[in-house]
Amino acid sequence: MEREREHLIKPVLGRHYPAIAYGKGVFLYDDAGKKYLDASSGAVTASIGHGVQEIAEAMQEQAGKVSFVYRSQFTSEPAEQLAKKLSDLTPGGDYWSFFVNSGSEATETAMKIAIQHWQEQGRPSKHRIISRRMSYHGITLGALSMSGHVLRRRRFVPLLEDFPVVAPPYCYRCPLRQTPAACGLACADDLDAAVKRIGAEHIAAFIAEPIIGAAGGAVVPPDGYYEKIKAICERHEILFIADEVMTGIARTGEMFGMQHFGVEPDLIALGKGMSAGYTPMAAAMAKDHVMAPILQGSRSVMSGHTYSANPQSAAVSLAVLAYIDKHGLVQAAQNQGALLLERLRQLADRHVIIGDVRGEGLLTAIEFVADRQSKHPFPPELGVTNKIIDLAFQKGLLVYPAAGGVDGDGDAIIIAPPLTITDEELELLVGLLDETIREVTQELT
Ligand code: PLP
Repeated sequence: MEREREHLIKPVLGRHYPAIAYGKGVFLYDDAGKKYLDASSGAVTASIGHGVQEIAEAMQEQAGKVSFVYRSQFTSEPAEQLAKKLSDLTPGGDYWSFFVNSGSEATETAMKIAIQHWQEQGRPSKHRIISRRMSYHGITLGALSMSGHVLRRRRFVPLLEDFPVVAPPYCYRCPLRQTPAACGLACADDLDAAVKRIGAEHIAAFIAEPIIGAAGGAVVPPDGYYEKIKAICERHEILFIADEVMTGIARTGEMFGMQHFGVEPDLIALGKGMSAGYTPMAAAMAKDHVMAPILQGSRSVMSGHTYSANPQSAAVSLAVLAYIDKHGLVQAAQNQGALLLERLRQLADRHVIIGDVRGEGLLTAIEFVADRQSKHPFPPELGVTNKIIDLAFQKGLLVYPAAGGVDGDGDAIIIAPPLTITDEELELLVGLLDETIREVTQELT
């Protein structure tokens, strides 16, 4: 372990992590001069690429005016503008925004607003949140309580709220052992059954990622799923929270992932792509009708952090949104996403360990299986996902691990490069991935 770095707690203690000296576009360069193609945008975050000067300038300009004001004392022009801009970007408008610093805080704040919405109407028993078994909504205890990610929960289960979970819309290996043609969206019916079992009078909201990210690997639900979910929520007076932390802000080829399904959520959690990694920034957004009882009641959302609505971060986020607009990155995510999916499907023709290739826009994934016919996963002790990630890393390619399979019993990687990726860079990415998968397959067979 290097002496001077010993005080920093890194993901695996004692392991060597290269230090990045700078980044440019889709590439990162470490201080030893090694170049990495960032095919995961870090943690699906750096969506406009690295080292964009406009953002640095916006940051500097705001810092020259004021970097911090406390939200209990003041508001700021960038924060006000950002809240309006985000609302305008949704198809239906009419959203309020509560700014926080991470996706975990965004989902927790959305949860709290949902609970408060019912409290303010004299219905405090509506306080439980239903989520799906295959889900990740954040690492803090409240967000983790809503998450199904087995590995990330395991150590803290006794401290977590025992929130109910329902079947995910994971058609590749359906947890309900159905086939898409004949299932009648049984996974959505599972929500209805859970609500009836628990009692709608105890449930505040249902939370779901439009396309499942870290807990499954770009799992896109079947047609009609979200319409059915929304109808069930409305029937039982349950709010629908879309966790758009990974899917939001152009990543999937729409500004919001939920636009692919034509369903309007009552609350939205945003993070990651909202500032594209240039500063910590996230938001819980709530529709007018969700806020109405609070406006007519206590007039105060009982949450907040020292850095909430930070003007510096809001200015950065506004600059990122302007950059996305100026460079047509929603369309770019659609175009390059289609090309990437096509290339990944060609890889599947060549490599037997590829079970499934899926995704939407530039949020794509590969699931690996021991046997294509039975879709049986590899034994966990083989650590196939880590083998792929580590070998790709050695080759200078960054991909992101996902817990493939319901309850984490599978192997998957997410490929989600910056939305600015060119055709040439995309071919380089696929070439490096091809090599990586070939070598790991040789090792496994
Ligand atoms: N929600 C989703 C869908 C995520 O993918 C993540 C992070 O990966 C989070 C919430 C938590 O965000 P953060 O890591 O910024 O706290």
